[in-house]
Amino acid sequence: MLVHFLLATIACYVVYFLFRVPRAVVICFAAAILCDLDHIFEFWAAYGFTLNPIKFWKVTLSKRNYFKETGKVHLFFHGWEYIIIVMIAGAVTSKYNLAVSFSLGYGLHLLWDQVNFGKHALSYSLLFRLQQDFDLEKIIQKKI
Ligand SMILES: [Zn+2]
Repeated sequence: MLVHFLLATIACYVVYFLFRVPRAVVICFAAAILCDLDHIFEFWAAYGFTLNPIKFWKVTLSKRNYFKETGKVHLFFHGWEYIIIVMIAGAVTSKYNLAVSFSLGYGLHLLWDQVNFGKHALSYSLLFRLQQDFDLEKIIQKKI
């Protein structure tokens, strides 16, 4: 989480340097940080619904893994496809600065996750995970 915060800060500095638009900086930061909220859904699927953040952090910081508990990896907010969708939306609406801001913050987050946690080259593709029925073993063992 700290790394994501640092990467988001770097991305936000770049966005501010490029566009000097406060709204673009907010979008960049939100895209870089809020996408990890989907881990809460994975936690709930494995351990049941709770709003107690201490329970979530205890599991997250321990060796327990909610993906292994359910055998599924959904992570609906993690997917390279979102960058393509947002860039197309930015082109269609002529909001390039906002689309680039989102993509920079979100892309750095995803790149970090891909390099450090991606067991498969396509594991951070939402369509690939959907094709594998979000099955952890299929995603890990699938050959390109
Ligand atoms: Zn993430």
